Amino acid sequence: MENNKKIIFERIDNACRACGRDPAELRVVWVSKTHPVSAVETAIVIGAVEFGENRVQEALEKFLPQREGIICRIIGPVQKNKLRKAVSVAQAIDSVADLESVLKLEVLCEEANKNLEVLFQVNASEEATKSGLSMQSAFDFLQSLPEPKRLIYKGLMTIGKNTGNPKDSKICFSFLRNLRDKIFNSEAKFSNFTELSMGMTDDLEVAIAEGSTMLRIGTALFGERNLKTHP
Ligand SMILES: *Cc1c(COP(=O)(O)O)cnc(C)c1O
Repeated sequence: MENNKKIIFERIDNACRACGRDPAELRVVWVSKTHPVSAVETAIVIGAVEFGENRVQEALEKFLPQREGIICRIIGPVQKNKLRKAVSVAQAIDSVADLESVLKLEVLCEEANKNLEVLFQVNASEEATKSGLSMQSAFDFLQSLPEPKRLIYKGLMTIGKNTGNPKDSKICFSFLRNLRDKIFNSEAKFSNFTELSMGMTDDLEVAIAEGSTMLRIGTALFGERNLKTHP
C-alpha cells in the first residue's frame, strides 16, 4: 500500500504541475469500501486521515468507535432510514441530493449535538445508473435550501463519465466547478461552499485540471475490489 500511495501522490504532483496548481489545495479521500478494517489500519499508519465508504453498514463496522483525528465520509446514496446511523459514524455525507434528507439530517444532528458537512451530488454524466441532482435542477434546488443550522453546506460531488476515456469526464467536471462558483457567490448560507469532490483512480488528472479539491481514490490505493463479493 505504501508504494501505491507513492505512485498516487506522484500522479497528483504531476497533474498539479501540468496546470499550475499547488498540491496542498487537494485532499485525498481513501475509498476503503469492500476492504477490511485491517486495510484501514494500514492506511492510517502510512498517513491516511480521510476515508470514504459508500455503505453505512460497512462504515459502522470499520469506523466505530471513532479514532482520534480520523474522518469518515459517506460517499454513496443513503436511504432515509439509514441517515441516523450515518450521522453516528460520519463527519461528512457527500451524496445528499434531496430536501427530505437535508431536513432529516438537521433534526438528527441537533439530537446528536453535532455538526455535519454535506456535499450535494450532481449526476453530471447524466447516466441513468447514477444518483444525484440533475444538471438542469441542481442550481434551483441548491438556491431553495433552508438556512443551515447543524449542517455545513460544503460543496458538490460528482462521478465522472465511466466510458473508459477519462477525457469524457472533463465536461462533467467543468460543469461542477461553474455551479460551485455560482452557488458560492450567491448567498451567505453558502459561505463555506468551496469543495469539489471529483476525480477517482482513472480520471484524477482531468479532475485536477478542472479544479477538484477532493479526490476519491479506491483502487489505486487499496487494490482491486472483489467484485464477486461486492458487485
Ligand atoms: C468506489 C468509489 C470511488 C473510488 O473509485 P476508484 O475507481 O476505485 O478509485 C469513488 N467515488 C465513489 C462515489 C465510489 O463509489
